Amino acid sequence: MNLPADLARLRFDARFTEALPADPLTLAQPRIVQGAAYSFCAPTPVPAPRLLAWSADCAWLLGLPAQPDDADAAAGIFAGNRLLPGSQPYATCYGGHQFGQWAGQLGDGRALMLGTVIGPAGLRQEVQLKGAGLTPYSRHADGRAVLRSSLREYLCSEAMHHLGVPTTRALCLVATGEPVVRDMFYDGHPQAEPGAIVTRVAESFLRFGHFELPAARGDTALLKALLDHALTTHFPTLGAPSRDAYVALFREVCRRTAGLVAHWLRVGFVHGVMNTDNLSLLGLTIDYGPYGWLDAFDPGFTPNTTDRGGRYAYAEQARVAGWNLACLANALLPLVEDASALEAALETYSDHFERSYLGVLRDKLGLPAQAGDAAAQADFGLASALFACFAEVETDMTIFYRRLARIAPGASPQAALEEIAPAFYAAPTEAARARFAEWLTHWQARLASSPEDPAARRARMDAANPWLIPRNWLAQQAIDAASAGDMQPLERLMRALREPYREQPDHADLAARRPDWARHAPGCAALSCSS
Ligand code: AMP
Ligand code: MG
Repeated sequence: MNLPADLARLRFDARFTEALPADPLTLAQPRIVQGAAYSFCAPTPVPAPRLLAWSADCAWLLGLPAQPDDADAAAGIFAGNRLLPGSQPYATCYGGHQFGQWAGQLGDGRALMLGTVIGPAGLRQEVQLKGAGLTPYSRHADGRAVLRSSLREYLCSEAMHHLGVPTTRALCLVATGEPVVRDMFYDGHPQAEPGAIVTRVAESFLRFGHFELPAARGDTALLKALLDHALTTHFPTLGAPSRDAYVALFREVCRRTAGLVAHWLRVGFVHGVMNTDNLSLLGLTIDYGPYGWLDAFDPGFTPNTTDRGGRYAYAEQARVAGWNLACLANALLPLVEDASALEAALETYSDHFERSYLGVLRDKLGLPAQAGDAAAQADFGLASALFACFAEVETDMTIFYRRLARIAPGASPQAALEEIAPAFYAAPTEAARARFAEWLTHWQARLASSPEDPAARRARMDAANPWLIPRNWLAQQAIDAASAGDMQPLERLMRALREPYREQPDHADLAARRPDWARHAPGCAALSCSS
């Protein structure tokens, strides 16, 4: 069968596999792989691939059309049943710290790189299937993925992009026609679920764990090869490989990670599994598993039922990212050989985070930028006082900030309270109303102290505060429909999420408070790592 013209145009570049040592074995059998950055490995064909969704925005990055020329051919290729010319699939080897403990070798257990495509503007994009079958890194698992988790990854990758949050992307979602057995809540009730594969796209899928594993094994040659590849390919402005360039790279990773976490806090995203194998060297959101979104603002919220201690809860993410960066610094030490240089770089992380987060809070609250520590402390204080109000009555974070932006300058406390009332999940007590009214008065005083054109301020706030986010219950509705063969709810959600900052009256139901049925529903309030 001839390849359709769109896919036949994809050009692959083998820089990664040519620059780095390959595992001499090519069988997919799970095992320990030493001295290699990756293993060549073929995808395992599936019985009945069917294209469920295709992202025109991501396709554009690769020079592919808004709709594939031939959906069945695309489904076959992005299910791994057929390889494109020039594509030599491989799974990469990495390790990681999981929940604070060193876990040893992990690797791409079900992700398989088709290769690096050189896009229309010359941009490099790695194209990867997730759920394409066993690899040497599958350990005790099956290398497959279920529809619910693949759809969630597809949806959120593209939504994050439109929200302006650095992220890996998703090209398409393919049903495999093969059931996959999962025990969703690890409670002894395994069930067959529909299988699916998501095609992910990113400039690089390198994780902190890619560097931790060779460092832990004392394999400095592999560590150096990986870091030199990362430096020359993804951070070319930092100079040729040298100790200084390695430190500069680490400093840049600190800067990007700080910015990334500030974005997560801005939109109310909780990653859910911030293990070092799930942190991207490029500062992208990577590996969408049991992630979630804040409905009501709650600093301790985590959607991940596996994380009982709340290690990766919403408000812990900045601290944990710093912990993960310390692991990366340790991994780079054998090459930099100067702990103080890495420590100094690591210290820039908290400054970067604080600055980014201050900017986020000021934009969310419509406060003007102001130099100086005193102004910064005052604005952090105003935000903390608001969070204390949120503790008084369950308040929808997304709706709150959009309503806040609508409060007219000089509005009475009563009128201001009425404006934000739709964000409350329950009727506030008198004490809660009083507390909010007091906060609103302080906030208005702060705005009045440095006047800004109200329309400009509202536009700035609305550009930082999304109107629409892919809340868990919306994803769950799209999953339920897709499981019954109806892709329209997902398509509608994806369409609305292309412009998440614009109020869209046709989609007002998608921007509503979490409905009561979703409060404790599986897939909405609670998610496990089972995927
Ligand atoms: P995660 O918690 O999803 O980041 O995964 C941690 C590790 O487990 C990674 O090395 C994954 O590749 C691997 N893994 C997770 N699920 C599967 C699966 N179904 N088959 C093979 N490997 C898996
Ligand atoms: Mg992972």
